[in-house]
Amino acid sequence: MTTTLAIANQKGGVAKTTTVASVGAALAELGSSVLLVDLDPQACLTFSLGIDPEDLELSVHHVLTKGLDPAEVILQTDDGVDLLPATIELARAEAELLTRTGREHVLKTMIESLEDSDLDYDWVLLDCPPSLGVLTVAALTAADGVLVPLQCETLSHRGVGQLLDTVHDVRRFTNRGLEVWGVLPTLYDGRTNHARTVLETISDTYDLEVIEPPIPKTIKFAEAPAAGRSILATSRSNKGAQAYREVAVNLVERSKRPKKKAQKKAQRK
Ligand code: ADP
Ligand code: MG
Repeated sequence: MTTTLAIANQKGGVAKTTTVASVGAALAELGSSVLLVDLDPQACLTFSLGIDPEDLELSVHHVLTKGLDPAEVILQTDDGVDLLPATIELARAEAELLTRTGREHVLKTMIESLEDSDLDYDWVLLDCPPSLGVLTVAALTAADGVLVPLQCETLSHRGVGQLLDTVHDVRRFTNRGLEVWGVLPTLYDGRTNHARTVLETISDTYDLEVIEPPIPKTIKFAEAPAAGRSILATSRSNKGAQAYREVAVNLVERSKRPKKKAQKKAQRK
């Protein structure tokens, strides 16, 4: 059984990509088979795993818009995870998919086809672009859960409401089973009262679970992508790497929780 998790927030710079790379590496350390899918035309995830998007002929774009077999595109990385890479071509995918029937389901169909093949992953992590366009909706349609990284530096989290509206629409129209697993506090400076206040405000305002522990702000994250490895490999004992390992353990626990609908049925009995 594959657990598919979309890492989404239409705001840029909140550590979506860092979270996908680090949680992916941590899940691999725990012995899971993991596929990371780069859904951002900026291809930061691809680049941060040591692959230059400019060297690639095939990418996720060909899978989503041309129906290419993902097995022909998936790459193995030094971090122990597999990657479905992106290139700047993906910028065209939004427009190309816009007129396509069933566009919301392209990723879901792809992941289901993987489940039926030799490439049956325990986890698929979807690195969403900083928008609520076709690709993010397709990611939410394919996902069992959505994780929302939030940086704790500012109180302006108005975007979260918009994202939750989109989640609501996806639940209504394309993926009834989608669950919000929670917010993941990133770039967290626990020394400041401000960061703690922001965290409490967010969980109260939106009635969302907060995934523990918060990811501390550390300079090591800026250095990792240039090395082409996640922070788990470049700074093994760094407190940020350690925090992501704990998050991964908690996500594994979360994945075992019965789905909401099943819970409701159980209560009614
Ligand atoms: P997004 O994918 O949401 O746009 P990124 O993962 O690319 O965000 O992160 C944005 C920037 O913040 C990157 O330069 C990254 O290295 C840096 N960053 C991410 N997490 C941390 C952290 N915990 N501490 C310090 N810098 C971080
Ligand atoms: Mg990103």
